[in-house]
Amino acid sequence: HVDVPEDHPRHDSLLTRHRIEDGVDRGITSRQGLIAQGRGEAYDYLLGERTIPSADEAERAAAAQLLLADHPVLSVNGNVAALVPEEMVELAEVVGAELEVNLFNRTEERVAAIAEYLHEHGAGEVKGLRADGRIPGLSHERAKVDSDGIGDADVVLVPLEDGDRAEALAATGKVEIVIDLNPLSRSAQSAAIPVVDNIVRAVPNITRHARELADAPRDELEAIVADFDREAALAAAERAIRTGGDGEE
Ligand code: ATP
Ligand code: MG
Repeated sequence: HVDVPEDHPRHDSLLTRHRIEDGVDRGITSRQGLIAQGRGEAYDYLLGERTIPSADEAERAAAAQLLLADHPVLSVNGNVAALVPEEMVELAEVVGAELEVNLFNRTEERVAAIAEYLHEHGAGEVKGLRADGRIPGLSHERAKVDSDGIGDADVVLVPLEDGDRAEALAATGKVEIVIDLNPLSRSAQSAAIPVVDNIVRAVPNITRHARELADAPRDELEAIVADFDREAALAAAERAIRTGGDGEE
């Protein structure tokens, strides 16, 4: 295990990095996942490694959207599993969503290892092993989903997703919530609700909002979703990166 001094100014970021390394060692995170993490760290550094106000609003809208859904599914890849396994299981419970392992570089070994890792962190059923459905417009391996999981979902949370796949999924008409630290990435750009925040902060914060909203009437949840402005949220994140401020006008 790695010791990061508590008083190190970038303590959380370094711990997060070690969790990804550990994920690679366990066979749940791909080597490409290391590169994705590096890209994420760069944006997080520019954002001040904090949840900016527009991201908090997006997280509240995401919570409302997941609570409103008939069949919400949370997609889990190797980075997500390495960084927030318990937190994803908890969010799934609070909003009544299913968990589905969904990989850009799919191997049956990695799907099974991630499903097992989620079970170890308290997950019940985990989808993604059957892979009997396809997202239209993607090549065979990258198109695979469970027909009764993401294939049948009306709202899908896809953290750290590849741009092509995020676009193809959005084109199916499902409501797509993306967590991605790069507001210019095609994944964030194609989302109905782009959450520009580190997944280690975003998921617990979506869960916190979902708990607060659990007993809210439908029309209140619908108003939160309707009032959310995706263009404004993306612009605020870009402003925060460019100016070093909190992105508010
Ligand atoms: P594009 O969407 O423009 O096509 P891409 O999909 O090829 O880009 P990838 O490297 O596949 O980009 O995806 C990694 C994305 O995940 C990056 O945008 C990165 O900022 C983001 N990311 C990485 N780690 C985290 C994290 N811990 N929390 C949130 N986002 C992260
Ligand atoms: Mg992307």
